[in-house]
Amino acid sequence: MSVQPQIELVGIDKHYGSFHALKNINLVIPKGQFVALVGPSGCGKSTLLRSLAGLESISGGTMKIAGEVMNGVPPRKRDVAMVFQSYALYPHMTVEQNLTYSLRLKRVPRAEAKKAADEVAKTIGLQQLMHRYPRELSGGQRQRVAMGRAIIRHPKAFLFDEPLSNLDAALRVHMRKEIRALHDRLGATSVYVTHDQIEAMTMADHVVVMRDGVIEQQGSPLELYDAPATRFVAGFIGSPAMNFIPGTIAADGQHVTLDLEGVAALPIGRSLEPGRKVTVGLRPEHIEATPGSSGQIVLPVAVVESTGSLTYLTTDGEPELTVVITGRSDIRSRETVGLTIAPERVHIFDAQTERAL
Ligand code: ATP
Repeated sequence: MSVQPQIELVGIDKHYGSFHALKNINLVIPKGQFVALVGPSGCGKSTLLRSLAGLESISGGTMKIAGEVMNGVPPRKRDVAMVFQSYALYPHMTVEQNLTYSLRLKRVPRAEAKKAADEVAKTIGLQQLMHRYPRELSGGQRQRVAMGRAIIRHPKAFLFDEPLSNLDAALRVHMRKEIRALHDRLGATSVYVTHDQIEAMTMADHVVVMRDGVIEQQGSPLELYDAPATRFVAGFIGSPAMNFIPGTIAADGQHVTLDLEGVAALPIGRSLEPGRKVTVGLRPEHIEATPGSSGQIVLPVAVVESTGSLTYLTTDGEPELTVVITGRSDIRSRETVGLTIAPERVHIFDAQTERAL
């Protein structure tokens, strides 16, 4: 028996006048899943989230939450909770009043609302802060209150719109874990919009990569990393970004010659049409570097940078290549380095369609 999805989007379209912001979006989210919508600015991720919340009307398709069609249903009747980066807390109310506001609107008796607020405060560690005003809280604490306000309503889904982008880097990393742990504890269903692929990869069970109003690819974080369907996804997922080099499939169909100096043909571990123009993708962390001139690609090193735990090499030449080495390296700038990559780690995209081959 198939389980009913918590959120189901079928053929969603959205037009702003003549601008086609969402194009035939299909997405099924099971109960309990944490889904990240990622993509560059303007790809439509906020529009999709706001459509789910009922803050935008859709132009076509069907949107269901917990089995009920939501097309045309006003936001307050959808039973979903939005969490924004701006926190949207009421400045003149204490934490407790902020938490219970939605319950008071629903005329929940005062004692019952207080009990619910205490429970939520315990869940997310706000007990000591209940009588403070938002201005007396840190950024992380405000974000937690915003979460608390969402939790107290027991919504059918949590919708997050870049909730961490106002926080500094260290707090962001901490809050990522906190939000994900909370999601698990509550057994919630969450949709999380971010332009930060690391945030998406570390938090989500399922990542949806959007581009120009279209879902370019969706899958688990590692599926997207291991088998990007297009050059766009390959370049978007993974850090530092994949290296891309133009090339041509060699006469034997088993190698690719790169438009790069210092390169012998790379074995590709599959058979493709000789002469085909392609783009070769090599992840920086999949390239092995050894000092000297033995390797598939032999190039001078332009820059060596170390963070202590990782060493980054940038080669000379056009295009320049980035290589990541775990730990320290003896390689110095201006030395020659030999680079090797396993055939199964060579990504190949058609030069024209940019689809993976
Ligand atoms: P960002 O990360 O910058 O917020 P996004 O992926 O969330 O980007 P959206 O806000 O969903 O992008 O916008 C998608 C596209 O729709 C953009 O090109 C935007 O200019 C356009 N758009 C959004 N709202 C409107 C509107 N009210 N009227 C016309 N066009 C709009």
